[in-house]
Amino acid sequence: MSKTAQPPRINLANLPTPLQPLSRLSKKLSGPTIWVKRDDLTHTAVSGNKIRKLEYVVAEALQQRCDVIITCGGIQSNHCRATALICAQLGLKCHLILRGAQPDCLEGNTFLANLAGAKITYLEPAAYRKNLTQEFTRLQASYEEQGLRAYCIPTGASDEVGLWGYYSMAGELKKDIELNNLNVQLIGCATGSGGTHAGLALGMHHLKVNTQVRGYAVCDSAAYFKDKCEQDINAWYQRYLPNSLVDMPNLDVSDEFIGPGYGIAEPEIYQTIRDLAQLEGLILDPVYTAKAFYGLLEQIKRGDVSSDGDVIFVHTGGLFGLFAHRHKM
Ligand SMILES: *Cc1c(COP(=O)(O)O)cnc(C)c1O
Repeated sequence: MSKTAQPPRINLANLPTPLQPLSRLSKKLSGPTIWVKRDDLTHTAVSGNKIRKLEYVVAEALQQRCDVIITCGGIQSNHCRATALICAQLGLKCHLILRGAQPDCLEGNTFLANLAGAKITYLEPAAYRKNLTQEFTRLQASYEEQGLRAYCIPTGASDEVGLWGYYSMAGELKKDIELNNLNVQLIGCATGSGGTHAGLALGMHHLKVNTQVRGYAVCDSAAYFKDKCEQDINAWYQRYLPNSLVDMPNLDVSDEFIGPGYGIAEPEIYQTIRDLAQLEGLILDPVYTAKAFYGLLEQIKRGDVSSDGDVIFVHTGGLFGLFAHRHKM
């Protein structure tokens, strides 16, 4: 592979994150040893996977001398909470467009985003679907009128810039695998806007680690995610490796464990959260990580994953979203 143009990056996350075995759970399952890459430990309040992408995306915003960052997501968006806190840390303004009605009482991620001083525009789901792009343009123009330059980050910071976060993480994971002498059958992660999965799959592919990287969808179909990942990877090549042929990694997406829909969890998901908390002291969230982890466990139980060797689950965070679900548990 030829050399990529290196994008700017700022250090925000506490890296590398630990890789830890879930010994009691693995023994109970009598399957492969399950290891967790603890990306829920990247930070305290900015914890989770978005901080790795924001190290690159926010660096680009700073390079362009932007004063404001505008981004979007669901009411309990981890990405929006992380962006709001990082903006405060760097002295930038932050404006969030959230999908849903303004809640009477702010919970979990929205509470923290508000605490960090982010401005929030709420859009009902139908209006959000229809007018999101216009809303970005409108806000950007209104900041410009005030003499402020605004940088727009797409959903989940999943674009060719954000892709760098998990592209770089692949190098970290390769070291973890070598250090622990693992024989990895599968690497699993939750996928919601595709950037984590796409970055990690591309990074592993370029490092010639042949392990399957599987994204467990929490919304949308496998076909949608394959297409979205390919778009982001194509854009990445075009920008950072323009003279090289696109060498697309295998994109393995499982869309069997979404349940009733994005952000809606069934009893087995809440049970998975309880089980892991009690057996291993590991907290999963009902929107992303518990659905993905449940899917991984089901595939192990069914024998879809070989019982020898090791499996790695990338814990992408989401702790604060759990608090918004406590009344359902
Ligand atoms: C955003 C998010 C994901 C999904 O990552 P994408 O890169 O958006 O696919 C997974 N887990 C948690 C906790 C998240 O906040």
